[in-house]
Amino acid sequence: MASSWFEIREFPDGVVGIGEPGHAEGVKSYLVRGSELAMLVDTGMGVDDLKQTVEPLVSTPVLVVNSHSHWDHIGSNWQFDRIWIHEAEADRLPAGRSWEPGRGPMGPDSLSRPLPDGVDPEHFGIRPSKAERTLTEGDEIDLGDRTFLVVHTPGHSPGGITLIEQATGIALVGDAVYAGALYAHMRGECDPVLYRATLTKLAELAPELSTLYPSHNAYPLDPGFLNETHQGMEEVWAGRRPDQSADGVERYQFDRFSILLAEGWRAAEH
Ligand SMILES: [Zn+2]
Repeated sequence: MASSWFEIREFPDGVVGIGEPGHAEGVKSYLVRGSELAMLVDTGMGVDDLKQTVEPLVSTPVLVVNSHSHWDHIGSNWQFDRIWIHEAEADRLPAGRSWEPGRGPMGPDSLSRPLPDGVDPEHFGIRPSKAERTLTEGDEIDLGDRTFLVVHTPGHSPGGITLIEQATGIALVGDAVYAGALYAHMRGECDPVLYRATLTKLAELAPELSTLYPSHNAYPLDPGFLNETHQGMEEVWAGRRPDQSADGVERYQFDRFSILLAEGWRAAEH
């Protein structure tokens, strides 16, 4: 039975978006059907039964590929046997993620839909999972009649990847870019220098791309968005002043997105 937690959107290019619009994160997982294998890019927040939602949509085995290991992208990993993730973050999966009771991400302020039956927002956590294989730059993921190239796009996290189908120009960009606040500020996790390099790399690839599927907020996006985020980061690097600075975080606002950086990042990076 289809869940009311997930929002399924089928696109003509064979990509299926699986959104979770009831939570403020606006996270998306994506299913790409190939003749031999279906690739499920990320498994969302683990709030509802993703496996049961995906199964009627496919007629092949399912391979999970995580764009990175942050909790809102790996929530239902535990339901799947085959999980591939970049080598820099594979060792994080077995730990899962837990929060102190009542301090987790399912507070009432984050929810615009009721949680599915049986989900206790006070004791929400992410179950452990395990990588079957690790990925690195240049690997190819063969789904039978479709192939995706692994492009390492770190900065938001050390092992972030973008998956590109060169035959169609489809790019699943994870958290590298999306229409919202780009997180480059989390200390010990984000790396502004690498993030800048990633945005440059993606902008260079933009002419060969047709469609971007980001892991949060509005989707799909046009490849021109990659030029905007690249230009934005370059403006920040060139000395643009933050539009806002609060709680140790600088916000640089642009038309379709903003960039968040930790106060003092400039001194730390140079
Ligand atoms: Zn993330």
